[in-house]
Amino acid sequence: MEYVTLNNGVVMPILGFGVYQIPPEDTERAVTEALAAGYRLLDTAAAYGNEEAVGRAIKTSGIPRADLFVTTKLWVQDAPARDNTRRAFETSLARLGLDHVDLYLIHQPYGDVHGQWHAMESLNREGLAKAIGVANFHPDRLVDPIVNNEITPAVNQIETHPFFQRTADQDLMRERGVQIQSWGGFAEGRNDLFTTPVLRDIGLAHGKSVAQVVLRWLIQRGVVAIPKSVRAERMAENIDIFDFELTDDQMAAVATLDTGSSLFFDHRDPAMVERLGGHRLDA
Ligand code: NAP
Repeated sequence: MEYVTLNNGVVMPILGFGVYQIPPEDTERAVTEALAAGYRLLDTAAAYGNEEAVGRAIKTSGIPRADLFVTTKLWVQDAPARDNTRRAFETSLARLGLDHVDLYLIHQPYGDVHGQWHAMESLNREGLAKAIGVANFHPDRLVDPIVNNEITPAVNQIETHPFFQRTADQDLMRERGVQIQSWGGFAEGRNDLFTTPVLRDIGLAHGKSVAQVVLRWLIQRGVVAIPKSVRAERMAENIDIFDFELTDDQMAAVATLDTGSSLFFDHRDPAMVERLGGHRLDA
C-alpha cells in the first residue's frame, strides 16, 4: 500500500474500498471480504444506509483500529447546523460502533456549509474526527470555507475518472493543501469504460486489466481512489496495482480521454441543488 499525508499530518492509504450502493444486507460480507483482501480505508456515508454493517465487519475482523482508516459523511442539515451536525456525527459514530472516525466529510456543498464546518472543526479539535473535509465542492465552493474558517478541509472527494479528470481542480487543491480523492473512479462503468481501447491497450502492455490501469493512473496522479465492488475477485484485482507503473506516454494517452464534463450531474445545476440540497435523511 502507498499513503498520502493530509494537511494536518494524518496519514491516509491512497487506495480504499467504497460501499456506495451496496445494500445494507450485503455490506457486512463485502467489507469483510475487502478487509481480507487487504483494504484498510473504508468509505461510507450516513446517506448510504450501511454504516451499521460496515461497523459490524470492522468489529468481527479483529483488525486493530489503528490500522484502519474509516471515512463517513455528513448529509445536508437543517439550521442550526452546529447542533444538528454534532447529532448526526454522534449517530454515525454509534452506527459504526467506533469512538472516532479518521475522516468526516461534508457530503454535499449545500445548506449552511459554514455552520456544518464550524461543528466539524470542533469534532476535529476533540479528536473525534482525525481529519475533516468536503465532497463535491467545485473550486469556488472549496475556497469559500478555506478563506472564512480556521481549518482548511483536508480532503475534497469529487467525481474523477478518465472521462472527467479534474486536473485544473487538482492543481487548485494542491495549491491550497487539499487532498483530491476520486469517487466513481470507474465512472461506475459508464461510457464503456471497461472496454475503452486506449485503456485496454495499456493494460495489455502490462498484463493488467482496464480497472487496474484506471486505478494505477489515479494513484500515479496522487489521487486517492476508493473503488467499489461486491465481488471478492474484483476486490483483489483492484488492490493489485502496486507492481507496475504507467509510462509518461501512457499517462498522456489516458489524458486524451478527458471530456471535461461530468458523466453523472453537475452540483451547480439548480435542479440538483434543489433535489439534493432539499433532501433530508430520516433520523
Ligand atoms: P465505481 O467505483 O466507479 O464503480 C463501481 C462499479 O464498477 C460497480 O458496478 C462494480 O461492479 C464495477 N467494478 C468494480 N471493480 C471492477 C472490475 N475490476 N472490473 C469490472 N467492473 C468492476 O463507482 P462508485 O461506487 O460510485 O464510486 C466509488 C466510491 O466512491 C463509492 O462506493 C463511494 O464510497 C464513493 N462515492 C462518493 C460519492 C460522493 O458524493 N462523495 C458519490 C459516489 C461514490 P460490482 O460491484 O458488481 O463488482
